[in-house]
Amino acid sequence: MSARVFYPPAGAPDRTTRTRIYAMSFAPNSPAARDVAYYLHPYTNLVQHETQGPHILTKGDGVFVTDDDGKEYLEGMAGLWCAALGFSERRLATAAARQMAQLPFYHGFAGQSVEVVVDLAEKLVRMAPHGPAGPMSKAFFTSSGSEANDTQIKLVWYYNNALGRPHKKKIIARRGAYHGVTLAAASLTGLEYVTGGFDVPIDRILHTDFPHYWRHAEPGESEEDFATRLAESLERLILAEGPETVAAFIAEPVMGAGGVVPPPATYFEKVQAVLRKHDVLFIADEVITGFGRTGNMFGCETYDIRPDMISFAKSLTAAYVPMGAVVISDEIYQVLKEASAQRGMFGHGYTYSGHPLAAAVALEALTIYEERDIPAHVARLSPRFLGGLNSFADHPLVGDVRGVGLIAGVELAADRAAKRPFDAAAKVGALVSAKAQAQGLIVRPLGGDVVALCPPMSITADEIELLLERFGRALDDAHAQLKADGLA
Ligand code: PLP
Repeated sequence: MSARVFYPPAGAPDRTTRTRIYAMSFAPNSPAARDVAYYLHPYTNLVQHETQGPHILTKGDGVFVTDDDGKEYLEGMAGLWCAALGFSERRLATAAARQMAQLPFYHGFAGQSVEVVVDLAEKLVRMAPHGPAGPMSKAFFTSSGSEANDTQIKLVWYYNNALGRPHKKKIIARRGAYHGVTLAAASLTGLEYVTGGFDVPIDRILHTDFPHYWRHAEPGESEEDFATRLAESLERLILAEGPETVAAFIAEPVMGAGGVVPPPATYFEKVQAVLRKHDVLFIADEVITGFGRTGNMFGCETYDIRPDMISFAKSLTAAYVPMGAVVISDEIYQVLKEASAQRGMFGHGYTYSGHPLAAAVALEALTIYEERDIPAHVARLSPRFLGGLNSFADHPLVGDVRGVGLIAGVELAADRAAKRPFDAAAKVGALVSAKAQAQGLIVRPLGGDVVALCPPMSITADEIELLLERFGRALDDAHAQLKADGLA
């Protein structure tokens, strides 16, 4: 659907009427018109949407998707960092159909169980990165990454109540972090466009520094010194709040939506030392980094993180059906168990905790990651992917290129040497993204004019070349337009 601009009629009587009139600027009764009329889109500029209408996708094939104009795109973002195996993996469809036919739903309350969920829990716990005291112990299932992180907060609070530490409840996240949008997860998220207007954060959530070396290091500061400074700042925060009030720290091994920020060298080593010293749990949010994205099965392996609790979602099912998970250490499980003995039960769970359909798809996805050795495939393609993107490092629009495995961010800047960003109003990230889309490549503009790339992990070497070629043309096209507009 090509974008159309339609100006609001003066004096439209009410908002509903106005929306209907906008919708009428699209072909009557078309999907676009009905979309504008009825669909409240997530993360969408609602005013712009009424004039531009939706971009409607109709089918997928490998790493490509096709829209309702028949135009094909290389999906350079795996949707939302999630369609790990592309858009036409038959084995996932078959696993889903088989489970739908056999037992489409059963729950896990009061000890009910379905074997495929048991299989998944076993596989996930066995695969998961180890905690400080060894292998993980139990998996709990949700329907999303946000629910997983909400669950983490509840578990941490429940755990500390059970240990008789009712004041040890504060959770530290990082500015720039993305942990989801439910009430507590949105509170962890450190991005204004997520929190603004929603009366979050809730109580007892704190934020420490954004570990974005290129943007926030002091002149001449090494990555190691930057990491030391941030770890010291974290410790100061814990001491100022009182370690007896600080329960947990949550971090994405590589920050995604905050701008694709891999940790500076030695960061997690230093942060973990601080956390251990003050008896603060580490929650690893592997929602983006899990299952191969960084070139190892988990981001925790890439950065030597020993988490107490882990959140998963997205690639867990290769995004074919919604599912998230929380995996916890045995130390935490034993405390939950004792508390539940006192209370009569562990009083947390969703109708869809361990949905058999999602479990069947997740189990098949995890089997595929292992059988095809997806982490090794990612590690093999990564040098060309990151090297190719790095070859744009001296493009006039580019400030910084960073990434790991098959996830990367290209931060645009008006002046690279001075690290001066473009005027936010110029929306240069969105412009590059639109030019990429015109070239047949989907990328994602993030805040701070970072363009994210995170293709399906099943991408081939030739498709990486195509991605790089299209991205290069998009940068050139955006530059040409900015020059013509007197903005570059
Ligand atoms: N955690 C991270 C690191 C994420 O990137 C996301 C989503 O992008 C979430 C949590 C939230 O997941 P969901 O959108 O499934 O609720």
